[in-house]
Amino acid sequence: MSDAFQGIGMTSQRTRDRLIGRLKEQGIHNTDVLAVMKSLPRHLFVEEALASRAYEDTALPIGHGQTISQPFIVARMTEILLEGSPKKKVLEVGTGSGYQTAVLSRLVDRVFSVERISLLQNQARERFYNLKLNNIRLKHSDGNWGWEENAPYDSIIVTCAPEHVPENLLKQLAPGGRLVIPVGGSVGQSLRVIDRNGNSFEETILDDVSFVPFLNGQI
Ligand code: SAH
Repeated sequence: MSDAFQGIGMTSQRTRDRLIGRLKEQGIHNTDVLAVMKSLPRHLFVEEALASRAYEDTALPIGHGQTISQPFIVARMTEILLEGSPKKKVLEVGTGSGYQTAVLSRLVDRVFSVERISLLQNQARERFYNLKLNNIRLKHSDGNWGWEENAPYDSIIVTCAPEHVPENLLKQLAPGGRLVIPVGGSVGQSLRVIDRNGNSFEETILDDVSFVPFLNGQI
């Protein structure tokens, strides 16, 4: 493996292992999620100037006013998304850096991800290519539409916060499927889990969270 992938100093395996230790202490228990996050080089998902901070448990800027999500929240959402029946096909709204997408790609069969900012999407695509993650499909689109052609999805994860849950995402959820989504304005967001049983939806409100806003349209 090349140095760039493996990391040195503040991006070394030891630094990564410390982050995984902290995630465990904070209650992340899914060993598959922890193993994937241990092996995946998060420093390749931020610009080089920020690489030394990639294994701190914080969100970091990725340009265009957006952020790569905090490792704890990535682990928590992934763990929740994987609970219950096997998840083969997953839709993500908000590709951003592609880190959450990459984590998912190693845990489920196929990941579909939509992003409204084409420049971010292009960078993410290059990262997936370099890391040989071949089960990811990307679309430049507004997540309000979901991605109908490949629906239904066993799970849908949203990594930006809308004020209300987009109707199309509920429609594109398979029976028995699960949506994990932060909902709310710039203050007072909460992480929600919505489970579909036939045509009824059961919502559970979890932690208070702080995500970048879900915006309309694409650029
Ligand atoms: N999982 C990403 C999170 C990036 S921040 C990561 O860890 O890097 C959230 C992303 O959602 C941003 O890239 C933003 O452009 C995108 N986004 C916001 N509103 C959207 C919408 N309506 N449709 C698609 N993507 C959206």
